[in-house]
Amino acid sequence: MSDISPKDFIRQIIDQDLLDDPSCKVVTRFPPEPNGYLHLGHAKSICLNFSVADERKGITYLRFDDTNPIKEDAVFAESIKKDVQWLGFDWQDKLTHASDYFDELHQAAINLIKKDLAYVDSSSPDELKSYRGSLTKSGINSPYRDRSIEENLDLFARMKNGEFSDGEMILRAKIDMKSPNMNLRDPAIYRIRHHQHQRTGNAWCIYPMYDFAHALSDAFEGITYSLCTLEFEDHRPLYNWFIDNVKTEHQPRQIEFSRLNLAYSLTSKRKLKDLIDKKIVNGWDDPRLVTIAGMRRRGYPPVAIRDFCQRVGVTKKDNLIEMGVLENCVREYLGDTAQRRMGVLKPLKITLSNYDKNQIENLDAQNHPNFPDLGTRKMPFCNELYIEQSDFLEEAPKKFFRLKPGGEVRLRYAYIIRCEKVIKNSDGKVTELICSYDPDTKSGTGTSEKKVKGTIHWVSVRHSLDAKIRLYDRLFKLPNPSNCEDIESSINPNSLETLQAKLEISLDSEDAPAVFQLERNGYFCIDKEEKETKYNRIVTLRDSWAKIEKQALSQ
Ligand code: ATP
Ligand code: MG
Repeated sequence: MSDISPKDFIRQIIDQDLLDDPSCKVVTRFPPEPNGYLHLGHAKSICLNFSVADERKGITYLRFDDTNPIKEDAVFAESIKKDVQWLGFDWQDKLTHASDYFDELHQAAINLIKKDLAYVDSSSPDELKSYRGSLTKSGINSPYRDRSIEENLDLFARMKNGEFSDGEMILRAKIDMKSPNMNLRDPAIYRIRHHQHQRTGNAWCIYPMYDFAHALSDAFEGITYSLCTLEFEDHRPLYNWFIDNVKTEHQPRQIEFSRLNLAYSLTSKRKLKDLIDKKIVNGWDDPRLVTIAGMRRRGYPPVAIRDFCQRVGVTKKDNLIEMGVLENCVREYLGDTAQRRMGVLKPLKITLSNYDKNQIENLDAQNHPNFPDLGTRKMPFCNELYIEQSDFLEEAPKKFFRLKPGGEVRLRYAYIIRCEKVIKNSDGKVTELICSYDPDTKSGTGTSEKKVKGTIHWVSVRHSLDAKIRLYDRLFKLPNPSNCEDIESSINPNSLETLQAKLEISLDSEDAPAVFQLERNGYFCIDKEEKETKYNRIVTLRDSWAKIEKQALSQ
């Protein structure tokens, strides 16, 4: 990756280490649990882990944290691989699983027992809970804490052999039940789960706990920097305890950074799953979600997501990023790369009374205003056209520079027209406008001095493509929906609008661009997940939410 990120505190730490000892290696990992699809928060972690290593000629592992067979699924693992690749990162041959180390982890647990640093506890889950204490109350020792090493080895072997049922026994680290850090109060390191595992099948009925498996997998792989989110700060002493007491060859260092939270959206697999289960959205790749699959389908370019992750930076401060920051990254990238086209989202027919109805002119339209090299295309023009309903107002205020009765406007790349007559149906709704055109005002000819203040887009009625278009808005009404008890009540009922639009005919061709700007209407793409052709609006041209969002976030 060529983007050289500005130096955040993690990069500063690593570079200092490299200065102190140039033989240091930078080895990082991205360790998702395959229990859901990845979201924008994960993108931040992916960008950080892969870029930090790549910039320093290091390596990055993609390691599946598959220690809980009940929640995990191969479908999720496949989606994660696809998403990491799509974001533009390459783990090369470093694809691993916590389950690759089940033998080593099991042996490490036995070694801890042998050192009298782990014991099998036969307490019930309720008893375990009551011994644990609380943040204000110290824990107490379990009656099984002083079992002999032999008894522990025997019981652990029998746990592994399937002699006990789920929850009947656990293996715990023997640390300190009085520690002010709850994570050090003899945490569980192995539990019984009679459940088939997606990779190891029925080979095991005991599974290592996350903290144990994660710290040791890092050490086994020679990870030098284990970068994780702030909620693991309190787990760091336990992480180090495992590394120190198992006496691994490598000593990884855990460094925490703040999670990414994006306003008006959810970045938590559990909450996303809830939305999907309740059918509030149409699956993990619903374009209104900031899952990576959703953003891909929506048409967000991976470059823009990487750019966003770089802009939000890496700190230890928790914050809520405005949606506009992400959308601006998308706009900036598409502004330079997407070709321009014309399309009318809510069509209103106009007829040019003085234009020969048998005539068709093929007008030249630029593909990109800033890059003439991208060439031009032909736009057929005739006496019947569609314009945007919102570009006409019967009773228009003074500053309305588009079409009004008796008013004039320029049709982009074509002529100046005047609205002569308004036709309405029996309900009083405007159904058609009769206009006249001024033949001396053809764009690019310079034959007329006439000037008008407004220019609007249009499409020829006889040369147009019918298109199903989906416009998206924020999925939530509230800036911080994750704080909301009742998620359903925070949903924006207008987050999806489906329209039957008319697009210029050049889009009806094999070699039409799959991503384009419809002038004045935003950036659009073909939804690749749909069999029938449908278009998604990727993002509007301007941030109409900026003001509202700033206000809401400052309250
Ligand atoms: P979720 O809360 O969505 O389930 P998670 O942390 O449980 O997320 P994992 O699959 O365990 O999901 O995460 C893999 C990695 O991604 C972890 O290192 C985690 O710290 C990081 N990560 C997850 N969410 C975020 C986020 N919002 N911002 C930054 N990093 C994140
Ligand atoms: Mg997790």
